Amino acid sequence: MTEERSVDDPRRSVGERIFVIGAGLMGSGIAAQAALAGYFVTLEDVNEELANRGRANALRALDHQVRKGAVEASARDRAMEAIDVAIGFRRVAAAQIVLEAAPENLALKQGIFREIEPLASPTALLASNTSSLPITSIAQSLADPGRLVGVHFFNPVLQMPLVELIPGRRTRPEVEATARAFAVRLGKTVVHAKDTPGFVTTRALAVLVNEAAWMLYEGVATREDIDVAYRLGFHHPMGPFELVDLVGIDTAVAILDVLWDGFRDPKYRVCPLLRQMVHAGQLGRKSGEGFYSYPAAGSRP
Ligand code: NAD
Repeated sequence: MTEERSVDDPRRSVGERIFVIGAGLMGSGIAAQAALAGYFVTLEDVNEELANRGRANALRALDHQVRKGAVEASARDRAMEAIDVAIGFRRVAAAQIVLEAAPENLALKQGIFREIEPLASPTALLASNTSSLPITSIAQSLADPGRLVGVHFFNPVLQMPLVELIPGRRTRPEVEATARAFAVRLGKTVVHAKDTPGFVTTRALAVLVNEAAWMLYEGVATREDIDVAYRLGFHHPMGPFELVDLVGIDTAVAILDVLWDGFRDPKYRVCPLLRQMVHAGQLGRKSGEGFYSYPAAGSRP
């Protein structure tokens, strides 16, 4: 495991370390983006293999940017030097920003923040990258719910310029302001959304993807034709099945369940095909198979 940087390092200063919980698709991207912006990053996961894989995926994402000419090789190298990995929350106290990017499960996220709160610096910002869960519900697990804010990044993090900022009902204005400054420092454009299930973007996306799945399920058109129709008909850069393979089909189903729980509106009724694919382990790119096949299983964009 990578050694923690010496406290004598001239680039190290208070407020510069971010502790990312969950080294998956989003956590690794956020780590890469934060390191590029000059933060030191600790990337945490449940075991060493996953944490190291997250760090390797951060490198892969940065390499992709270097190949495109968007990032200098020297900036990539500096960023990678600034990312280390951890198992467990022992080192969370050193961070001024704690950002959770664990799977989309309310009980899991509540449990993580319950554990984190007494370990984190009392001044640290606590943020969740949830794409659909109400921040107020996650914050229920905290003694001080005013510390938590939703900071919703998009995938792939290095390429997507948007962050949705979601203060919960009790989030303090200064916490929201700190989160906004963090997102801006990472080069993102921030939109503010009320704390409702799915916020703005996820609510729209869930319906778009679910409707495509229903059309496939009903035999309206083939998977390829539905993707082409969305791309050429609406000028979307990706079709809905290409997109949900990137997002993760398990994540999409979890989001639709949150919308259903939150609104009880039949428009959020998840297509059985999506749930069946989750049960079959066909999660999209991250499992090597979703609506399409990805021969290099586990590869990240
Ligand atoms: P992912 O499955 O790729 O990664 C989640 C990681 O969290 C895994 O590596 C897992 O091992 C780890 N994890 C599980 N339990 C943990 C625990 N107790 N402590 C620490 N780590 C733990 O999922 P993802 O796609 O990166 O999504 C993470 C979050 O970001 C979710 O809330 C999701 O809704 C949100 N999000 C996802 C996308 C997307 O496109 N996938 C976009 C925006 C936001």
